[in-house]
Amino acid sequence: MNKPDVIKGKTWQAQKFDGGYIVNINNGEKIISSLEDFILSEKIGSAEITGIGATNEATLGFFNFKKEEFSEQTFSEQMEIASAIGNASYKNEELYIHMHVTLVRDNYSSYAGHLVEATIHGVAEFYVRTNPFKVYKSNEVDKNMWVYNFEKTEI
Ligand code: FE
Repeated sequence: MNKPDVIKGKTWQAQKFDGGYIVNINNGEKIISSLEDFILSEKIGSAEITGIGATNEATLGFFNFKKEEFSEQTFSEQMEIASAIGNASYKNEELYIHMHVTLVRDNYSSYAGHLVEATIHGVAEFYVRTNPFKVYKSNEVDKNMWVYNFEKTEI
């Protein structure tokens, strides 16, 4: 078996394995935008994403169903990314990374929620397990909810 090539982006490096990639995002860079850049440049149709690392600025989101509002809050302090888990698919033709995180503070309490964006402060180690099919979400049933629409999956 040959050693796989190192794939280099502007803010990340990756190495392919059978079924996916290991992705490292550079210190000081943004998680979501780097993963978007990686997925688009590798032409990945859909994926499961998991990661750990550290951040010093993260914006989390929470959808309030009653108000039909997505509220956001930014936390600016050193935090461990204890867990980042999500997926990549497409909303119409636009790539959408849906990711949730648990961020641990220096007193071991945590913030958790939908990850809007976070800046790496330390390391960011991701595994991206890929699906060769391009998978879509649609909001035809409820405009606030983007759900998988497997009828639209493309080979
Ligand atoms: Fe979410």
